[in-house]
Amino acid sequence: MLLGAPGVGKGTQAEFLCSKLKACHLSTGDIFRAAKAANACALTPALSAALQFMRRGELVPDETVLALVAERVNCLKCEGGFLLDGFPRTVAEAEALETLLKRNGIQLDAVVSYGLPLEQVVARLSGRRTCPQCKAVFHVQARPPKVEGICDHCGAKLFQREDDRPESVRVRMEAYETSTVPLTDFYRSRGLLRSIPADGGPEEIFERTMKVLRNGKPV
Ligand code: AMP
Repeated sequence: MLLGAPGVGKGTQAEFLCSKLKACHLSTGDIFRAAKAANACALTPALSAALQFMRRGELVPDETVLALVAERVNCLKCEGGFLLDGFPRTVAEAEALETLLKRNGIQLDAVVSYGLPLEQVVARLSGRRTCPQCKAVFHVQARPPKVEGICDHCGAKLFQREDDRPESVRVRMEAYETSTVPLTDFYRSRGLLRSIPADGGPEEIFERTMKVLRNGKPV
């Protein structure tokens, strides 16, 4: 599981980790963005409401998120393991996940918590560009694509997420502080937390992450 403020680089690290470990990537944010791209008639009322929360930078209600995760329980049984990115984000979600995992006889190996000072987080968010097709994440300065505005992997046109705009960023940071930060204590008390500084380039952070995961000691 990856924890950390929005923009800290969880998506980029998830990409690296999944390709290295051949794990299944489960990102609730990606699920919501895919729903946004779907036809309006394919949206359930709960999903349409969820997208309104997302646009404003607020957290989507726990029940909606949990229903989406429960539908994807096979992802958690993937042979290469699974990587949770952006889920859970509240203690209620973490408790529900614990029940779901227990019921399926699945264990979490580690919870990686990335830390970065606020001003750096904001700089990362404002320069972030995302691929709508393969979900790869770039940054205009720190991780630019080879051709400006185009995804290196699939050639799709990169876009800036609606919720990366300043007015939504402020709301997201507040939601993070209030609802998600308590998860570090939740997982520390279970001996699963691995805290990792998220300064530096993506490759450097990835090396740090692999080292901590191999080492396996709680921090
Ligand atoms: P992310 O791509 O992980 O930054 O998620 C984008 C947005 O989707 C968040 O700002 C929330 O509005 C919503 N979202 C994603 N995951 C969750 C979650 N686990 N709980 C509540 N809302 C979520």
